[in-house]
Order: sequence, then C-alpha cells, then structure tokens
Amino acid sequence: MRLMILGSGTSYGIPVIGCQCAVCQSSDLRDRRMRSSLYIQGARGELAVIDTGPEFRLQAVGAGITALDGVFLTHSHADHLHGLDDVRPLCRERPLSVYGNRQTLEDLRDRFSYVFKETQKGGGKPRIITREAGEPVVIGALVFTPIPVKHGALDILGWKIREAGNREAVYLTDTSMIPEPSFGLIGQPEVAIIGGLRALEHETHFSFQQALEAGARLKARRIYLTHICHDHSHREIAAFCRRFCVQFKGACPAEVVEPVWDGQIIS
Ligand SMILES: [Zn+2]
Ligand SMILES: [Zn+2]
Ligand SMILES: [Zn+2]
Repeated sequence: MRLMILGSGTSYGIPVIGCQCAVCQSSDLRDRRMRSSLYIQGARGELAVIDTGPEFRLQAVGAGITALDGVFLTHSHADHLHGLDDVRPLCRERPLSVYGNRQTLEDLRDRFSYVFKETQKGGGKPRIITREAGEPVVIGALVFTPIPVKHGALDILGWKIREAGNREAVYLTDTSMIPEPSFGLIGQPEVAIIGGLRALEHETHFSFQQALEAGARLKARRIYLTHICHDHSHREIAAFCRRFCVQFKGACPAEVVEPVWDGQIIS
C-alpha cells in the first residue's frame, strides 16, 4: 500500500490569497499546501482517494491518477468536497462509489443537486453512486473502516485503511475529539495521519500538541500532521514535533513524527 499526500493545507490553502506573511511568501515548497486529501494505491492496483477538495483536478493530474475505485469522504466542508465534479473523467466506464456519513451525503446531494436531476444531454456530469458508510468497505485487498470522530459539534468520519498482510493506516483530518469507541475501532495503526491546525488550540480542530497526543495514544509507529494553516512554516512544525518526541520520551513509541507536505509518499 502506498499513500500519497495530495494536499496538506487547511481550508484557505497556503499561500492564503493576499497574505504577505512569511509562510505564505516562503520559498520552501513544503510550505505550499493545497487543500487536504489522500491518495491510496493498493498493491493489487486498488485506487482510492479520501476527500475531493477544490484542487482535486490539479492534484489528480499531478499524482497521475487515471482511475479510482472509490471516493471516501470525511465530511462536507467545501475544502473536502467541492472538487467532486472533477471526477468526471474517472467515471466514464462505470459509476464511481462515493462513501460518507448520512449528513455528508445529504449535503453532497444538495451542493451537487444537478448530478441527481434530469438535465439536457451533452452536459457532462459525474456518474457517482452515494453510499452511506456503515460497515467496512472492501476494495480488492483493501478494507476502509469508517471512524466516527468529532469536528467541533459535527459528527464526521476518519478512515482506517488496512491491506491484507500489511499494517494499517488511519486518516483523521478536521478532528477535535476522538470518542472512546473509535480508539477501539482504530487499534494500533502503523501510520496515523492526523489533522493538526496550528500550535494554538482551536474549537473545531486539534492543535499540533493535541494531534500528536492522539497519535501517541494510538501507539502509531509513524505520526504525521496534516490540514495545516499558515501560522507556522514546515521547518517550525518539524521542530515542534521533535520537541514533542523529547517531552514524550517513553510515552510515545513513534519512530517518525513530522508534518506532511504535498506530494509526500508514505509506504
Ligand atoms: Zn478542512
Ligand atoms: Zn499567510
Ligand atoms: Zn472541516
């Protein structure tokens, strides 16, 4: 299984339009962050993405995506959903299954209402089938398990990805709290990619510290931060992660603790 970070930024993306701050003006390419999304490639050729944000087309072209077996949505905020129309070239042969919780799919049908209406011929529409997430979804040798988490007051989903014969990865973006039963569902993944917005606490997102503490509690061997805002450069966040490891020595068994960057591959 190979995971590719398609985007690692918060809802504004980085650079933020019109922003003159040091991070938005940075020449370090790791400080350029499109909206958060993950591309999953299974060993047997299974292909899926988690979330289709506004830059989905650019991300798909950049990553060389030529087919998808499924789209797994975390929630319906614009930065995670609004590129969905651009799956059109990927569902010409057969409809594409889109998985999400009930609220997310309701919002999807509202925002993309034209997809579900009779319209004149010639207007290309994505051929999607919405499927409410409940039981784990099997695609080839990959199993996608929905993980209920809180995003402020919202109930959203993280996704655990398991490949037969391999360790697991979990993707938890836009999370502010992981309910106890979800810790049980997740278990001890090899890789935990967790949203950490910034150093300061926030009502609807984990801070860096809170995200890393969640990763440590999951006993993930590799903890990665994503969904990052422009408060800190990649370098500064990497330094924050190193300090966390020193503070948590013994309590955090992770070998890798770092922020991700767009285009990063995690195998
Ligand atoms: Zn978001
Ligand atoms: Zn900025
Ligand atoms: Zn959100």
